[in-house]
Amino acid sequence: MTDMAGSLALPREMRHFIEGREVESADGRRGELLSPVDEAVFATYAFGGEEDVDKAVSSARAQFDHGEWSRLSGYDRGLLLNKLADLIERDADLIAEMDAACIGRPAMEPRILDLPNAIQTIRTSAGWADKLEGRTIPTPGYLGRPTISYTVHEAVGVVAAITPWNTPFMITCWKVGPLLAAGCTVVIKPSEETPMSALHLARLVKEAGFPDGVVNVVTGSGSVIGNALVRNPGVDKVTFTGSPGVGKHIQQEAAEDFKRVSLELGGKSPQIVYADADLAEAVAGCAMGIFFNQGQICAAGSRILVHEDIAEIFAQQFAAVAESIVVGDPAQEGVQMGPVAKKAQFDRVNDYIRKGIDAGATLMAGGVSEYTQGWFVKPTVFANANNDMVIAQEEIFGPVATIIPFKDEDEAIQIANGTVYGLGATVWTSDVKRAHRLAKRVKAGAVGVNCWAPIDARLPWGGVKQSGIGRECGLAGVMAYTEEKVITVVTD
Ligand code: NDP
Repeated sequence: MTDMAGSLALPREMRHFIEGREVESADGRRGELLSPVDEAVFATYAFGGEEDVDKAVSSARAQFDHGEWSRLSGYDRGLLLNKLADLIERDADLIAEMDAACIGRPAMEPRILDLPNAIQTIRTSAGWADKLEGRTIPTPGYLGRPTISYTVHEAVGVVAAITPWNTPFMITCWKVGPLLAAGCTVVIKPSEETPMSALHLARLVKEAGFPDGVVNVVTGSGSVIGNALVRNPGVDKVTFTGSPGVGKHIQQEAAEDFKRVSLELGGKSPQIVYADADLAEAVAGCAMGIFFNQGQICAAGSRILVHEDIAEIFAQQFAAVAESIVVGDPAQEGVQMGPVAKKAQFDRVNDYIRKGIDAGATLMAGGVSEYTQGWFVKPTVFANANNDMVIAQEEIFGPVATIIPFKDEDEAIQIANGTVYGLGATVWTSDVKRAHRLAKRVKAGAVGVNCWAPIDARLPWGGVKQSGIGRECGLAGVMAYTEEKVITVVTD
């Protein structure tokens, strides 16, 4: 990257990162980044095509097949990952600024959540790199002769990592840490809105001493380079985080040559609030669950299921929290919520708010936002909704909460499980038996009891139903980048 500007030296011109070097697109095309706050162009980047994808995949392929990387031990990969974690820690403020500038959120949010989590993920991955052990399996032998069988976990190969714009650096590290621990190489395709932090990661990878070509980044549109990556025969696995529509398309394309696929998709996560919950804690926790990052979180707790005994008081207190959130330019003192990330999001979220009003849900806070300059959406709360409404079924990906009352546990579970999604869920109650019962019955990849979306590099993360396939993070997240091989030896 060249031509650094701004207080924390955000790059103004970016290029692809292929085989350890920054390069322009083969056809010289460039894209622009628009600030969600004032819609001004604040940086440009290389807008890639198929030729750039081919070069990046060849570079990753060469390192995986016969490069220096292919000969490193797990212990040595771990040492490199630890160096990388140190460098991310050194540049954490800058990286937080990069992600914040691209999507218009207060930099404090990625600084306190995304960056610590990303650093932890890289360090935890470093720890796994030399512990990917197999099993020894007793078998009856081969034609009467004794045998010993053992399994090994081998790196799956070249990975295409396609990432979204909402928490870009953290999600990139959820993929890059585990896949490097397993011994894979990668071509990262960040979202068009957020190429900056992925490119910075590639620079740090080089600085840490990884061989050139282990981590490559190509920037540009999903429909061109994302698609080209998924189709490229040099790619062995695609790991994708994004919308269910694109996830489905990727799975269909990948089926052509049986590429491995893991998909982290959307959600419509329920937050179940029982009458015996600590009300203040539940209101604050549910508010964080839907308003954090302007509601642009895959696990956003967008459906709040409240026991009928406290539905009214809960809705009043929750709406008061929504009204108190200060929305504006995140660079200004005291602002708690920035704009949504792009104009398409602004239009989409407002459309859903109109649909909620038309369906007859009670608007308790916020409402349709007028377009001025910048893509600011008011935190919005609907009460007295039912689970058939569009605002209760479809992922809005914005700061819109839908409160639905319920009578008893059976009804709560029926509503909670009554969507195509199954990513996260929360249960707010002081009854420990009820907590375990509800956690067991709700269909989701992760359930938080009296807390929202607990994420940690040691915990698996992923969805059931149309929220995805496979897990990231935890041991499962590293193993997802390996193939298990069994070797049987006749011993006598
Ligand atoms: P998209 O699915 O539109 O995009 C995700 C990534 O896929 C981007 O890099 C995009 O590129 C790329 N892409 C788009 N079209 C194709 C294609 N045809 N082939 C290959 N790649 C393609 O999602 P968003 O970026 O809009 O993110 C929001 C969605 O992601 C929400 O639905 C949200 O729930 C989900 N999400 C899920 C998470 C989880 O952990 N389960 C975490 C974060 C988000 P480009 O941007 O350049 O078009």
